[in-house]
Amino acid sequence: PFELKGKSVYVAGHRGMVGSALARRLEREDVELVTVDRREVDLCNQAAVFDWFARTRPQIVFLAAAKVGGIVANNTLRAEFIYDNIAIAANVIQAAHQNGAEKLMFLGSSCIYPKLAPQPLREDSVLTGPLEPTNEPYAIAKIAGIKMAEAYRAQYGSDFISVMPTNLYGPGDNYHPELSHVVAALIRRFHEAKLSGAKSVVVWGTGTPRREFLYVDDMADACVHLMKTYSSAELVNIGTGEDITIAEFARVVAAVVGYSGEIAFDTSRPDGTPRKLLDVSRLARLGWRAATSLHDGLKRAYAAYLSHT
Ligand code: GDP
Repeated sequence: PFELKGKSVYVAGHRGMVGSALARRLEREDVELVTVDRREVDLCNQAAVFDWFARTRPQIVFLAAAKVGGIVANNTLRAEFIYDNIAIAANVIQAAHQNGAEKLMFLGSSCIYPKLAPQPLREDSVLTGPLEPTNEPYAIAKIAGIKMAEAYRAQYGSDFISVMPTNLYGPGDNYHPELSHVVAALIRRFHEAKLSGAKSVVVWGTGTPRREFLYVDDMADACVHLMKTYSSAELVNIGTGEDITIAEFARVVAAVVGYSGEIAFDTSRPDGTPRKLLDVSRLARLGWRAATSLHDGLKRAYAAYLSHT
């Protein structure tokens, strides 16, 4: 396997939910963790990124920086989502190449798969059909990053790999009421309803879409595992292999938070893609499976939310 021991490891996006989980996970490895604040290096700024890499020359790169958000953020900030995410991927991948990084992991997203691809989503269904329109700009930027990693491997022999996480949640999530993902949105909404004694909580859409949710510390563990053991142009999905309807999911969140009122569905809000379950058989063959149940992960996520409010 590929040695991390004693190496300098740059986590791009260390303030984000995934990057901070990676930084926590890497504390258990014998590595020199390298991070840099956005105020110092804006990853959308090519000159700043190239300059910082030339000075720092990290040996290993986890590219976990991205502009992210839920269905509303993706659908309304369409220009920012495509520009920022293409710029971050292009700048960091090229800088890693130019400065001799030994290995890089690009973090994609399950939304790169076609809207109507067969479920569970296999890695080889990328670019086989049209994308979900609400997050197409983000998905196109992530596909560009994947194709860059693949192209650098093909042309330069770079050991650049790409992983596709399912919907992630956990400490460090964004709890913005409009712009967040469903897990953070519902933790917050049920918590506030519990406090105010509200009799009904609104959940967006019909409640019928199905989603898979992975606790972010499990995601970080999978990334470190693959960084050590995996080297191929082929993508690797990272998920639990199980999904749940939004209606069922809302009931689990309500139970964890301790809200016992009604749940109402606002069908004027978008459902997004009908189902998004990853095929995790490749990941299983590579020797990794998720350790945290949805219930336990939500308990930890709720505890982290409480400690920050
Ligand atoms: P997606 O997986 O890319 O669609 O991202 P989201 O996490 O934003 O949405 C997942 C599903 O949860 C969609 O079907 C949403 O309609 C549904 N959902 C229900 N309530 C909410 C909410 O309050 N916020 C968000 N973001 N989604 C919600």
